Amino acid sequence: MAKNGETGGNGMAVPSVNGREYPFIDHTFDVVVVGAGGSGLRAALGAAEAGLKTACVTKVFPTRSHTVAAQGGIAASLGNMGADDWRWHMYDTVKGSDWLGDQDAIEYLCRHAPAAVYELEHYGLPFSRTEDGKIYQRPFGGMTTHFGEGIAQRTCAAADRTGHAMLHTLYGQSLRHATEFFIEYFAIDLIMEDGACRGVVALCLDDGTLHRFRAHKTILATGGYGRAYFSCTSAHTCTGDGGGMVLRAGLPLQDMEFVQFHPTGIYGAGCLITEGSRGEGGYLVNSEGERFMERYAPHAKDLASRDVVSRAMTIEIREGRGVGKSNDHIFLHLDHLDPKVLAERLPGISESARVFAGVDVTKEPIPVLPTVHYNMGGIPTNYHGEVLTKDGDNPDAVVPGLMAIGEAACVSVHGANRLGSNSLIDLVVFGRAAGLRCAETITHGEKHPDLPKDAGQNSIERLDHFRYADGGTPTAELRLNMQKVMQTNCAVFRTGDILAEGKDLIHQVWKASADVKVTDRSLIWNTDLVETLEFDNLITQAVVTMDGAANRTESRGAHAREDYPDRDDKIWMKHTLAWADQANHQVTIDYRPVHSYTMSNDIQYIEPKARVY
Ligand SMILES: Cc1cc2nc3c(=O)[nH]c(=O)nc-3n(C[C@H](O)[C@H](O)[C@H](O)COP(=O)(O)OP(=O)(O)OC[C@H]3O[C@@H](n4cnc5c(N)ncnc54)[C@H](O)[C@@H]3O)c2cc1C
Repeated sequence: MAKNGETGGNGMAVPSVNGREYPFIDHTFDVVVVGAGGSGLRAALGAAEAGLKTACVTKVFPTRSHTVAAQGGIAASLGNMGADDWRWHMYDTVKGSDWLGDQDAIEYLCRHAPAAVYELEHYGLPFSRTEDGKIYQRPFGGMTTHFGEGIAQRTCAAADRTGHAMLHTLYGQSLRHATEFFIEYFAIDLIMEDGACRGVVALCLDDGTLHRFRAHKTILATGGYGRAYFSCTSAHTCTGDGGGMVLRAGLPLQDMEFVQFHPTGIYGAGCLITEGSRGEGGYLVNSEGERFMERYAPHAKDLASRDVVSRAMTIEIREGRGVGKSNDHIFLHLDHLDPKVLAERLPGISESARVFAGVDVTKEPIPVLPTVHYNMGGIPTNYHGEVLTKDGDNPDAVVPGLMAIGEAACVSVHGANRLGSNSLIDLVVFGRAAGLRCAETITHGEKHPDLPKDAGQNSIERLDHFRYADGGTPTAELRLNMQKVMQTNCAVFRTGDILAEGKDLIHQVWKASADVKVTDRSLIWNTDLVETLEFDNLITQAVVTMDGAANRTESRGAHAREDYPDRDDKIWMKHTLAWADQANHQVTIDYRPVHSYTMSNDIQYIEPKARVY
């Protein structure tokens, strides 16, 4: 590694902005992964295992990534607890996506899922077990057998701490290989040259040094942007930094209007109560004590897909049947379940309910409310993890050198709505695919061309701009304004009027960011500065989310328009692509066709039909 203060390898002067010098420490790798959640660790592991020189850059310690919070489990058709088939899993995922998912990618996901779970088992993931020692699997929303006929037990679980077990297992494994970790390094921006990605620039948070990573492939595994909303289940670090970098590089994001609300966030706190609690037999009731899901989804009931349950709860509350003093939430009952089952299968959420709602789950119901949980949209990719953009007539043009995986990416396997337990499997299947793609496309010892002369200049300009920002509005105020607009105007139910107002308000926040004020000028552990860089990433994604939602005049999956209640396949069975021009505060929208073909002949294209549960 170059010593602190050394400049770039191509004889350049020390880069500076406004007379202030920002020397780079240069690094050269075959592959640089940004992010150490489930997807980033799996990709880094794969690339390193293939003998590629691999770096993993992460703003938090790997095992603090949001993946650690995943509770319910990981979907794969192992068939340990009843008949199962990857084709049934594929059918459910296509239907769950409301036919916006790309079916070639969905086939890739579902057929590789069992092998990916066995790989995790062999890596040492401590799954819960059946009596005969097999991996325990629980029912989850929208997961069926025989193409929608029965209820599947497909979600593999380590009690209700599956993500915790998975992340620690993957981190342990990744240390076996020669991945070099850059921990508590904040990636600022991509290095782009002639439409290709050449690497990334990062700030080392604890000493303020700047690092320029040159790589044949840069893989963004930066997670979702749930923090664009006021109430969400995701960690404070889920600020969609990869999506922000992609927009700044002049590339589009895909299907951003599809934001998943999880039916059971704890009322007030927003922490998650896993869908696995309903998988184990929990059910929802309104103020009349009615198990209302029987009316909305007679077949699947409380295990209908998340968008369906969230809407049903919202309607119950709206029609005056909410519980509590203000009739503004719903009860989740687990108190009828055997306390032994609760202690064994749901220990984590029993604790969350006690701490955050003051409830003893063996005796009382948990107060819950739909809460923002997952971003279906993200950086468009193919099933190798290569980032796509639209180039003339080609909607699937690969951006050289750039890849994306995990929640940051939009493959698109989740389409308009993700099924529970399909994200963790997406992380490992496509994390692995990305590693394999790197091994296929990078030859050992392949030479690196010199970096462009001004490599990293965009990053230090952005950094310097915010470091010395001296406007009148603190970042926290701008962020709160953004979060409130998103929560109010881009929620479970949407109408043209509410979205038009939302567009107006969110664009106002976007423009007001020019007035941002940062008080701390240091580069060392400057949380004010980092939160500002994160807010800057969030606001552009909030804007394209709102604009995309206002633009899509139909209802599909998580995007429920009261003024356009039906799905409109003729006009809208297409992916939204959105570009954000930051200088002029303008959004451009275009489209990509949905892949209406499968990867192999082992399964036929699943024809669209009405989505009922
Ligand atoms: C509470 C909760 C429970 C869930 N339960 C389930 C479940 O049971 N089953 C399921 O399938 N899904 C579940 N999900 C969804 C799933 O956990 C997430 O979608 C998934 O873990 C995201 O993983 P990831 O690898 O994409 O990113 P994350 O785990 O979010 O990690 C992002 C990584 O990127 C790094 N990073 C971000 N920005 C930067 C930057 N600027 N510079 C450097 N590094 C950066 C971070 O340090 C971190 O390492 C749950 C989600 C939540 C919030």
